[in-house]
Amino acid sequence: MVFAAQENATWVPSLQIYGDHKAPSNDAEFLALAATLAPPDVMHHLQSAQPLDPIAVYRFPCGIRRRYDQLRRFPGRLLVIGDTLCSVNPVYGAGVSLAAAEAIALGECLAEESSAPLARRFFRTAHRTTYPTWWLAKCGDYSLSQAGLGARLLGSGFRLLSAAAAEDPATATAMLRSLALVDSPSTLVHPRILRRILRSRLRNQPVEALRR
Ligand SMILES: Cc1cc2nc3c(=O)[nH]c(=O)nc-3n(C[C@H](O)[C@H](O)[C@H](O)COP(=O)(O)OP(=O)(O)OC[C@H]3O[C@@H](n4cnc5c(N)ncnc54)[C@H](O)[C@@H]3O)c2cc1C
Repeated sequence: MVFAAQENATWVPSLQIYGDHKAPSNDAEFLALAATLAPPDVMHHLQSAQPLDPIAVYRFPCGIRRRYDQLRRFPGRLLVIGDTLCSVNPVYGAGVSLAAAEAIALGECLAEESSAPLARRFFRTAHRTTYPTWWLAKCGDYSLSQAGLGARLLGSGFRLLSAAAAEDPATATAMLRSLALVDSPSTLVHPRILRRILRSRLRNQPVEALRR
């Protein structure tokens, strides 16, 4: 659940549902599902809030990254940017930051003095720019899937990170800064953050349980 402040004292409450779970399609269903997740103070505001619009449901089947950087030829005077290049699950709130980072990369490519085709230079730079966020978002998606061993390991790491972020502001800030492309996702494996994740895990799971 995300409860995001907007301008003019308005808020957007969002519920993110995976797999076969049914998305709420009216206010009553929305509040009933929110009540299973929201802390009492948030729930109090939700119940007394004035809806500005009906509930909107958006379905997102999967993240897609298209590897134009691997094409040997590409039509001249044409480029692909934004979601058409790399689209991650909206739950991570990273799409606009990715599109902005690609726009900056494009500006840099345009300023370069190079005889190589612009499309090739841009797609390679854009791939490097988007890869860390794509990778982090994949780890998040893996945390909900039953994919292969490698994916399960990455997913478990993301689950530990999310659990620590839910109760530790420093971990939450590091996670949000990485997803917003302010910091590199490598900051999430810095010993300072790893210690906080471990501490959160030990607080919530007795050492005996970890030995099992
Ligand atoms: C529910 C939801 C929540 C999201 N929340 C966040 C968030 O909190 N933070 C964040 O960073 N990102 C978020 N995103 C992702 C973000 O919206 C996208 O990553 C971002 O908008 C991509 O920008 P874009 O310009 O590539 O594509 P779009 O913003 O989709 O723009 C493409 C435009 O092209 C137009 N178009 C399409 N086809 C044609 C055509 N044939 N001719 C003319 N025009 C056409 C479309 O109408 C559209 O206006 C969210 C996405 C969704 C769906």
